[in-house]
Amino acid sequence: MFYMLFLSSCTKRDRIFTESRTLMYTSCTITVVSPSEKTAGEAIEAGFARIERLEKLLNFFSPDSEITAINRASGRSPVKVSKETLVAIAKAVEIADYTNGAFDPTIAPVIRLWGFSGKSQESPIPSADKIKDALRFVDYRKIKINMSASEVFLEKKGMELDLGGIAKGYAADMAIEAIKTKGIKAALVAIAGDIKGFGLKPDLKPWRVGIQNPRLSDDNPPHPPFTKGGMGGLSEEDIFASLYLKDKAISTSGDYQRFFMKDGKRYHHIIDPRKGYSASDVISVSVISSDGYMADGLSTGIFVLGREKGIRLLESMGLNGIIVDSNKEIFITEDLKGEVDIEKTL
Ligand code: ADP
Ligand code: MG
Repeated sequence: MFYMLFLSSCTKRDRIFTESRTLMYTSCTITVVSPSEKTAGEAIEAGFARIERLEKLLNFFSPDSEITAINRASGRSPVKVSKETLVAIAKAVEIADYTNGAFDPTIAPVIRLWGFSGKSQESPIPSADKIKDALRFVDYRKIKINMSASEVFLEKKGMELDLGGIAKGYAADMAIEAIKTKGIKAALVAIAGDIKGFGLKPDLKPWRVGIQNPRLSDDNPPHPPFTKGGMGGLSEEDIFASLYLKDKAISTSGDYQRFFMKDGKRYHHIIDPRKGYSASDVISVSVISSDGYMADGLSTGIFVLGREKGIRLLESMGLNGIIVDSNKEIFITEDLKGEVDIEKTL
C-alpha cells in the first residue's frame, strides 16, 4: 500500500522551472518548483507581471511613473497614487527611520550631481558647493504620506523621491506573493542581488545562494549576475560566501555595482546623505530578513552606517547579515556564524 503511494507520487514528481528576463534595468530570474509545467509557467508569468508593474509605477527615470508625478509636484501639491506605490514609499520611510536617515529615499538630487543616475558611469567630481546645495533637498521627514487619501506630498520644491535602494527587494516580495497565489510550494526570485526564496527544493533542501565577491579581478570583471546556474545564479568563482535561504530574503549592496575610479579613489552609487559623498567604510553589505524590502533597504542604509553601527543595528533588530569592510575583512552577525560558508578569503 505504502509502496504504491510512493510510486504514484513519483510519477508526478516536482521539477524545477526557471526563466530570466531583463526588468528594473537588471537580470531577474524566477525559479519555481512544481509537478506541472503549465502551473509553473503561469506562476512565473504572474511573478514577472508583478515586477513589471512595479517597474512602471516606481521607475525614477520614466516620465510616466507615479514616482515622477510625485517629484514633479514637489512643493506644490499632493499626488494620488496606487496602493503599491504608497506602501513602497511608506516602507522606504520606515527604513529611513530604522537607520536614522542613513537610508534616505530623497537622496536623488545628490545622486544626479554625481551622475550615477544617468547611463554614463563617469562624470566630473562635483564641487563641494554644489553638493551642499543639493543636500538642502534631502530630508525624508519632508515626505508626507496620506494613507486614507492615498496621496504623497514632497514638502519642498526640488525634492525628489528615488526608491532605487528598496524597489528590487519590494518587487521580490510582491513577486513571491503572486507566485504563491498559483499554488506553488517553493520558489526563488532573484532581482540582481535581491533574492527571496520560500519552501524546499525537490531534494528537500532550502535554496542555496551565493554572495558576490566584491573584488573580482580585472580579467574576471563583475558581469550581470544570475545569468549562470547554481548559487542563486552566480557561478562558484564569482562568490565569496554561500548560505541556505530558509523562507527568507537576502540583499547585497556593494560599491562595485555602479562606480568610477579617479586618482585611485572609488566613487560609487551609495551616498552618505549627511555628507553627499560615497560611503567608504565598507565594500559589501548583505542583510537577511523575512521581507525583501527590509533586506534591500537595510543593506543600502547599513552600507552608509558602516561596519560597527551596522552590525549593532542588525543585532538590535534580531536580523542577520554579512559585512565586508574596506580592509576586505568579513564580519558576520553572531547568530549567522555557523550558517555561512566562506568559500574564499578576500
Ligand atoms: P543596487 O541598486 O545596486 O542593487 P542598492 O539597493 O544598495 O543597490 O541601491 C542603490 C541605489 O539606491 C542607488 O543607485 C541610489 O539610487 C539609491 N541610494 C544611494 N544612496 C542612498 C541612500 N543613502 N539612501 C537611499 N537610497 C540611496
Ligand atoms: Mg538596497
